Amino acid sequence: MLSQPTIASFKAGLRGELIEPGDQGYESARKVYNAMIDKRPRLIARCMDVADVILAVTFGRENKLPIAIRGGGHNAAGLGVWDEALVIDLSPMRYVRVDPKKRTVLAGGGALWGDVDHATHAFGLAVPAGIIATTGVGGLTLGGGIGHLTRQCGLTIDNLLGVDMVLADGRFVTANAKENADLFWAVRGGGGNFGVVTSFLYKAHPIHTDYAGPTLWPLEDAAEVMRWYRDFITKAPDSLNGFFAFLTVPPGPPFPPHLHMKKMCGVVWCYTGPARKAEAVFKPIRQFKTPALDLVGPIPHPALQSMFDPLFPPGQQWYWKADFVRELSDKAIALHVQHGSALPTWQSTMHLYPIDGAAGRVKNTATPWAYRDAKWAEVMVGVDPDPANREKISSWAKAYWTALHPYAAGGAYVNFMMEEGDERIRATYGKNYDRLAKIKKRYDPANLFHVNQNIKPAK
Ligand SMILES: Cc1cc2nc3c(=O)[nH]c(=O)nc-3n(C[C@H](O)[C@H](O)[C@H](O)COP(=O)(O)OP(=O)(O)OC[C@H]3O[C@@H](n4cnc5c(N)ncnc54)[C@H](O)[C@@H]3O)c2cc1C
Repeated sequence: MLSQPTIASFKAGLRGELIEPGDQGYESARKVYNAMIDKRPRLIARCMDVADVILAVTFGRENKLPIAIRGGGHNAAGLGVWDEALVIDLSPMRYVRVDPKKRTVLAGGGALWGDVDHATHAFGLAVPAGIIATTGVGGLTLGGGIGHLTRQCGLTIDNLLGVDMVLADGRFVTANAKENADLFWAVRGGGGNFGVVTSFLYKAHPIHTDYAGPTLWPLEDAAEVMRWYRDFITKAPDSLNGFFAFLTVPPGPPFPPHLHMKKMCGVVWCYTGPARKAEAVFKPIRQFKTPALDLVGPIPHPALQSMFDPLFPPGQQWYWKADFVRELSDKAIALHVQHGSALPTWQSTMHLYPIDGAAGRVKNTATPWAYRDAKWAEVMVGVDPDPANREKISSWAKAYWTALHPYAAGGAYVNFMMEEGDERIRATYGKNYDRLAKIKKRYDPANLFHVNQNIKPAK
């Protein structure tokens, strides 16, 4: 039991707010992006700076509270919040500093990708991120980071130059290729297992305007489109990214009314090569089969990055299932078409993200991300605002995944996983798991940071 004087002294030491059950704002502060998650933490410490984080980690450890670290709060499994825990909420730490000469970007541990895109675009630069701008820099980076620039620039972790962190014992350290190199290896995919990252330092790329957007085809053509996509994208230049999707056309502009709420398949493209070559790069795509909708064209990078944000506001029910995929056989494609054609709600979707190109040229052991030899990260997500549809969206995602899992590589991208148990986590890290467990033992032997896709300290 925490006494009121103990809490009062913690509160007095913090620059940021300390929120308790019953306080105004507690109900909204405990919410995360996925409305399926309904956790009631004991305390929420809104940390303003590193000093607040050190204080919070020390308080949590000394008072034997479970600690949940919250970056952007987007995690599929809702691992930024936990029952009866101390939530170290980094949302006040959203600063971004761009060094245009060195082409580096420093982002606070609670920054969102939209913050980074906004800051970097002013200098004609971009950092590889995910496809939704409201996602946190923290969780996405620590899990790997797949997005529109994966084939061109690699995963987000391949562009991470270093981190500042607060460890379980309250020490503040920097980890990069030269300092605490074991820790730097571990945070590039090992999640929030090793401490609270207070800032991330990234390499940025000279990317300002993409030639990008979706091309959509009728569901009747899905098998043919998928087979063509499989062969096309794996031979495409790195400067062309394209993820395949089964989706329902949203009921509003810029989509034409005759397609509204129609289930379709498509590819969301992003070309980052020279603008003068864009038309030629897209010629074979448009020639393969004239799309029913072609919204591809020049677009500022932050506009592409935030294109899907309005379709997926916070507060929806989300159920995720995922796998890595090495080969997309005709048999697997037939199953994809069967389940992908049965999207249970209009926001539900299946995405196949390419992870070849620059991301695929990194060794499986160079970072904890053990599936560099896979070609795609596959994810089935059931999404709907209505809690009454929870079962409907979950059972669709589970059935789809179960049908395709025999054709998959074994593990899944940690950031696309719900709470699925130790075996799944081990399958995901593969041969890298034991090394992660040893580093975990060194930096967090008591497993203070266990609200995550947890790596148990080695015995
Ligand atoms: C709509 C949507 C779209 C997405 N699209 C993509 C995509 O395109 N590409 C992709 O790769 N992923 C994508 N994701 C998955 C995303 O990467 C994960 O959900 C990720 O965990 C979100 O990070 P967060 O900081 O917002 O989450 P949080 O819930 O705040 O945290 C997630 C995990 O990371 C830990 N963590 C967060 N910040 C820190 C920190 N600073 N220090 C230590 N630990 C920390 C937390 O403890 C928790 O375990 C998407 C998710 C959603 C909901």
